[in-house]
Amino acid sequence: MCRYQTILRMVSGKPAETESWKRELAASFTGVSALLAALGLKAADIPDLDPNPATFRLLVPPVFAGLMRMGDPDDPLLRQVLPRLIEQAQVDGYVTDPVDDRSADCGHGLLRKYGGRSLLIATGACAIHCRYCFRRHFTYASLGTVRSRLDAASEHIAADPSVSELILSGGDPLLLDDRTLEQIVLRLATIGHMRRLRIHTRLPVVLPTRVTERLCAILASSGLMTVVVIHANHPRELGDAAEQALFDLRRAGVTLLNQSVLLHGVNDDPETLCQLSERLLQCGTLPYYLHQLDPVAGAAHFQVSDHDAIRLIETLRQQLPGYLLPRLVREIPGAASKMPL
Ligand SMILES: *Cc1c(COP(=O)(O)O)cnc(C)c1O
Ligand code: SF4
Repeated sequence: MCRYQTILRMVSGKPAETESWKRELAASFTGVSALLAALGLKAADIPDLDPNPATFRLLVPPVFAGLMRMGDPDDPLLRQVLPRLIEQAQVDGYVTDPVDDRSADCGHGLLRKYGGRSLLIATGACAIHCRYCFRRHFTYASLGTVRSRLDAASEHIAADPSVSELILSGGDPLLLDDRTLEQIVLRLATIGHMRRLRIHTRLPVVLPTRVTERLCAILASSGLMTVVVIHANHPRELGDAAEQALFDLRRAGVTLLNQSVLLHGVNDDPETLCQLSERLLQCGTLPYYLHQLDPVAGAAHFQVSDHDAIRLIETLRQQLPGYLLPRLVREIPGAASKMPL
């Protein structure tokens, strides 16, 4: 019996209440004033602050807040999560559904846009609310839980032998508890043509305690090649706890990649992006995509022009080894892949 199967047996009886990540998640900042106070900031320090957003409230786990610089209203981590009044400005071309997933919808929360890969929306929930995210306008309430959809979704995948990779996305699929994830993984592993499992998640970065021994054991013993694509935009997001979580995932045989979004005032300079790539490598993770922002209503102030984005990448290309250079891409509705710029 492999080491991870032993761990799985040992820990599967543990009650969920003992899991510290759930307690940490419950202790997240949900109000602007509490977060600012914890950082030694006052509302008056941020002239454009929206203290009480009507939709897409503030949500920040304590560990992530702990990586922000005290007393710095322009901290790049804070900028990603702090609601601003400018979000309410109407900007031409910025819409609520920029990615337009409707044509790719196979039902049961399955999206099929690209060859060989199906994407399953595992949950609509996230542990952090990133202001630039295109999901800020989505409600997944009509979708139902992934457990209720799992039978139909896996039958759909089983009927299409061209699909060899399932991508769990959301929301954040690692917000599902271990038991549900185990069910999904076991179910997938019974589909003969399924070779790879991919998980798109920000949790190893913003809530590293989510990477439990049991999670690692589930992924290690699935029999599928497993890729975890994390999401970090700035080198300071990868603290010691994230590094440890990523190390644990790697030890479980998981291939680690990172995707970032190019964000004005957060990471749109060559030094930051260079340091991000270096820090990722220290954490055993290779840069994968650098996304041009989806034109989502409320996020226009994060936009970096294509011209500047391409210049940034050209500067990086001269400074970094090829394997530390992310691919600059944009999502174009209806296209057969993410489009390189
Ligand atoms: C981004 C995306 C993928 C993954 O694309 P890769 O280029 O393989 O990373 C798959 N399905 C959907 C619906 C996506 O949006
Ligand atoms: S889906 Fe990802 S980018 Fe969007 S809010 Fe959730 S964690 Fe942030």
